[in-house]
Amino acid sequence: MTKCCTVTLPTEMRDVKIQNYINGEWATPSSGAYLKNYNPATGMEIAPIPDSKSADIDYAVHAAKSAFPMWSNMPGVERAAILNCIADLIDQNCDILATLESQDQGKTVASAAAIDIPKCAAYFRQFANYVTEGIRETESSMKLVCTTSSINKLVPSSQRATTQHVASGVAALITPWNFPLLMVCEKLAPCIAVGNTCVIKPTELTSVTSYLLTHILQAAAVPKGVVNIVFGSGVNAGEPLVKHRDVRLISFTGGSVTGSKVGALAGGLFKRVSLELGGKCPSLVFSDCDLEYAITTHVRGAYQNQGEVCLSASRQYVQRDIYEKFLDGFRQQVRQEVHVGDPANPATFYGPVVTKQHMEKVTSYIRLAQEEGATVEFLVNPNDPVTNVSTDGRLTIEGLEGGYFIAPTLITNVSQGSRVMQEEIFGPVVCVLPFDTEEEAVQLANDTQYGLGASVWTEDPEKLERVMRQINAGSVWGNNWLAWDDCMPFGGMGCSGTSREHGPWSLEFYTETKALYTHTV
Ligand code: NAD
Repeated sequence: MTKCCTVTLPTEMRDVKIQNYINGEWATPSSGAYLKNYNPATGMEIAPIPDSKSADIDYAVHAAKSAFPMWSNMPGVERAAILNCIADLIDQNCDILATLESQDQGKTVASAAAIDIPKCAAYFRQFANYVTEGIRETESSMKLVCTTSSINKLVPSSQRATTQHVASGVAALITPWNFPLLMVCEKLAPCIAVGNTCVIKPTELTSVTSYLLTHILQAAAVPKGVVNIVFGSGVNAGEPLVKHRDVRLISFTGGSVTGSKVGALAGGLFKRVSLELGGKCPSLVFSDCDLEYAITTHVRGAYQNQGEVCLSASRQYVQRDIYEKFLDGFRQQVRQEVHVGDPANPATFYGPVVTKQHMEKVTSYIRLAQEEGATVEFLVNPNDPVTNVSTDGRLTIEGLEGGYFIAPTLITNVSQGSRVMQEEIFGPVVCVLPFDTEEEAVQLANDTQYGLGASVWTEDPEKLERVMRQINAGSVWGNNWLAWDDCMPFGGMGCSGTSREHGPWSLEFYTETKALYTHTV
């Protein structure tokens, strides 16, 4: 049984150089080169990131492959004890992790401490629990455990047919920047719980908390080679990882364009692949909804985490007879409650967007909407320390002049076919359009290449059920947005992805399923 220790994490990253973590040791990149990294609230440089290449990936995959026989054969209860230890260390260091996540990503410390970091710990506990529960339950619930069997009643009684879920081998886990540590842990916990080993390639834009995780992994006595983390760009490190012949399985979360490349590469090499991609999520607000609650939730849905949420309610359709009332309430609430500024201030609703390049991408959509003749409003809170609002929505915040801040932006009078309505902006920008009938609402919601999430707002239970069932999206909320259950399937349709993860669906994905037929006479 693992005895869980404590760990001392750096509390400040300015002078830290991030290092790869391979075979239980920290290593500089083989190229010796580093990528620059910035605190988005200040624009100041923090912890440089290894610019890893194929040689580093080779080394990491080799370590993972060597550790696989030992780890996959370790009794599940022992693996679970290590996972629980990781969870305890994450919880113990919640404040440090949340603070540094905020300095690296721009999200508020309060949201990282309340959502991101506790959820990371919860994933390790959830999958530790699945493994230990499953071991006690051997002959049942085949979905839940990699070592269990189920009996197929159609096979003649002289034969026993069982399914076996076995660990796949070396997994590649590739993650984005909007929930940096959360996305890593969401994949890592099920991946290693069932006995795989892995190489993680976190996004080069927000690598800090993954680096802190390496200290936690070592303190939790995760055996050498089971978890390797290689930092660097998608092209130099991500692609060699996807292509590596010893990688059997790939879990990728990121944009749809990158996902398409990763899917094509992985498919051609017969690798198991899960793609969790972008979204442009609609919400349908009918005139018979609880308007006050709907407005509050839509403000959150539009601007939470700077709008950098794949499930962000970025296309809001409101029935025409309440359209103006909805917009008035929305504007008023944003101006009063959405404080933009220092992400370390507990009163801040959202902070800077992740990078200067991303700020330029988001504001280019705002300029496009203006050029197309849409109505663009910047709903700046009059009490915020904003010294300038540029014509394309950039905010200058007193004391944080180098930061990448964008105003809460509302776009109306835009056409459904505009790129602003069709493409993922991934920033604090929401488009609101009216609709007349239920049929039109469903048609507008489904008029997209994406299919990740949606929400429907009406007090009529039959209409709610009817409309929810017609929307093409992996998750649909009725009179809610982002209610969450980690035992429910998560994933998208169309350009939003190809798979389902979380809970039993993760166990299914991270294992190979075998059919065993045994003649028992
Ligand atoms: P991205 O596609 O640019 O990068 C994602 C990861 O892929 C990064 O680690 C990157 O380095 C790596 N990468 C880039 N090119 C690669 C290549 N050729 N081969 C292998 N790896 C490569 O995405 P991003 O900008 O980091 O993240 C934002 C996107 O992620 C948004 O579209 C958002 O909707 C999506 N997202 C989806 C979910 C979901 O669960 N569906 C969750 C969070 C974010």
